[in-house]
Amino acid sequence: MSDDLATLSARAATLREQLERAAYEYYVLDRPSLSDAEYDRMYRELARIEDEHPALRTADSPTQRVGAEPATHLVKHTHLVPMLSLANAFNEEELAAWEERIVRMTGDDVRRAGYNCELKIDGAAVSLTYREGVLVEGATRGNGTIGESVTTNLRTIRDIPLRLRGTDHPAMMEIRGEVYMPFSGFERMNEERIAAGEPVFANPRNAAAGALRQLDPKITASRPLKFFGYAIALPDGDDLPVDSQHELLALLASWGIPVAPDQRRCAALADVHAWAHEIEHKVRGALDFAIDGGVVKVDALALWPDLGVIGGREPRYAIARKFAPDIAETTLLAINVNVGRTGTINPYAVLEPVEIGGAQVRLATLHNFDLVRRKDLRVGDVVQVKRAGEVIPQIIGPVPDKRDADQPPPPYVPPTHCPSCGSELVTGAELGMLYCPNFECAGRRLESLVHFASRGAMDIRGLSYARITQLVDAELVHDAADLYDLTAEQLVALDRFAEKSAEQLVEAIAASKAQPLSKLLFALGIANIGEIAAKQIAKHFGTLDAIAHASVEQVLEVHGVGDTLAESLVSWFADPKAKKLIEKLRDRGLTFDEPRTHTGTALKGMTVVITGTLPSLSREQAGALVEANGGRIANSVSKKTSFVVVGEDAGSKLEKARTLGVETIDEAELLRRVGG
Ligand code: NAD
Repeated sequence: MSDDLATLSARAATLREQLERAAYEYYVLDRPSLSDAEYDRMYRELARIEDEHPALRTADSPTQRVGAEPATHLVKHTHLVPMLSLANAFNEEELAAWEERIVRMTGDDVRRAGYNCELKIDGAAVSLTYREGVLVEGATRGNGTIGESVTTNLRTIRDIPLRLRGTDHPAMMEIRGEVYMPFSGFERMNEERIAAGEPVFANPRNAAAGALRQLDPKITASRPLKFFGYAIALPDGDDLPVDSQHELLALLASWGIPVAPDQRRCAALADVHAWAHEIEHKVRGALDFAIDGGVVKVDALALWPDLGVIGGREPRYAIARKFAPDIAETTLLAINVNVGRTGTINPYAVLEPVEIGGAQVRLATLHNFDLVRRKDLRVGDVVQVKRAGEVIPQIIGPVPDKRDADQPPPPYVPPTHCPSCGSELVTGAELGMLYCPNFECAGRRLESLVHFASRGAMDIRGLSYARITQLVDAELVHDAADLYDLTAEQLVALDRFAEKSAEQLVEAIAASKAQPLSKLLFALGIANIGEIAAKQIAKHFGTLDAIAHASVEQVLEVHGVGDTLAESLVSWFADPKAKKLIEKLRDRGLTFDEPRTHTGTALKGMTVVITGTLPSLSREQAGALVEANGGRIANSVSKKTSFVVVGEDAGSKLEKARTLGVETIDEAELLRRVGG
């Protein structure tokens, strides 16, 4: 062996060992110590060495296998047809190279067939066995050939139908898909685990995989898991009633299997590129679940067998178009604080800039000081940062192994004085919160003006953070009422204001006088009064004067209002400074009352039953809608029921309605009937 080859051979052995350990931690322990990006980098290096020097490829190399061996404590399940992994394309060139390879094998048939593009759900792959449409077994992917039987756990996932809809099901089949945990549920669960002193999960994928492989189905049931289906495996010789992947997804959906949104049939590779770009840069941020790319599949199912499988691991008919990871590691440079409009002192993280999901991240929210303490974040730590949805980046936690064990950074100590005005901070009722008690604090004033002008409040277009800072610095504005005295001449005298933009801003400020009371009440920035509470209160009292004179007891009469909120509202209006502000706003002609909203009569005298899960409305929302339109909600179906609104997984109530001949409608029809 030459020196070079010997070095490469040693490098390959090291990579194999590290990847093997990482795969065990990831698939078996559900506790990865590497990020996916690090794993992928090492994997590609090994694959490249093996491609260039096939003699260095070993049978047990991670490039030759799917997943990991099934855990010994669970019963095993042999898959009808192996569950495979996917090859990756990290950019458009690699995707084009894939197309070229398969075109070489099948000729232009592939191009004629087009592609079906789907979200690549970052969850845990499972296989659901249905016999005559009834779920009889469910298993994890395991090593691709043998998985772990987790039927009782899978049955607890409400998304997975125990019986398929419709009648035309193959006598026996395995429906393949991904079990995942939505971000919202993941965060809630981790918060609960922190509160219970349990270790948190690194990411939703590991949390989902871990939940599936529990011995106690009650634990699985308590975890917020969901499912998307994308494939069907049949016994040898059986045929599917569809010819293409996009029809297959429609077939799954018709059986009541949830199918991921945003899939698209693309005629040519250029459309696939456009789709992937859109998903990575527009769609991904708005999803409530993690994806790590897209999956591009040759649409014509008939071509799949001819294309074959590489190394028993990756089918050629599909490829994962991977995106930049949306979780990254970086260094926590500082924990800074700012002053919120209600005086809250908000900690945030300053990070060594890092690219996540295509965007540069340098700041992350930290919520409150208790969270900093519980996560034990220390300045100097290497931390994991997530950019999920359009939300501000968040810190998942420190990477404990990367903290210097001999000389760990000191624990973080929260501030004692306001960084803006120097007042001594006070602790609030809410755990981990600190407040600046000074009503005149410059930091609070700036934030309260920003809030006043914001979209959900007075919605003053063009009044940005930078502009407000400018107005405050120039001492033109001290409180919200001063905004209404501004003239175009004053503005033009400031930097970066042209005549036109000055006039436009003055007009936008004047236009905001017409905002209804509910918006104004929210805009005042009273502690604990959010947009919804402001609306309820404004609707209940009708005028600002009535609110200003209300007692705590009277405020408590408003639907959904509790003690903290009522007390905060009443004490705000009792403050002489607030009274002065209200008078100034009155003089400037702002709207102090709330227009009465009409309630409909479309369902007058009708009795309505709601059953199953509706696609967009919660039960409460649907009930409120019925009542707002004059209808009455009943819990059981009888001959007197006017109609039943039926959602997914409806059970006995639907059957009863059918038996009694009571009309059944879906959510869309309900919305149509109430004119919404
Ligand atoms: P993969 O996750 O890259 O892709 C294959 C899988 O995608 C399929 O098995 C299926 O479960 C899933 N999938 C999601 N949506 C799909 C769709 N619409 N159609 C078809 N399949 C879909 O491959 P893998 O073998 O599951 O795992 C390898 C990846 O796991 C690596 O690239 C790495 O990112 C990660 N990993 C990380 C570590 C670590 O230590 N961090 C260790 C091992 C593996």
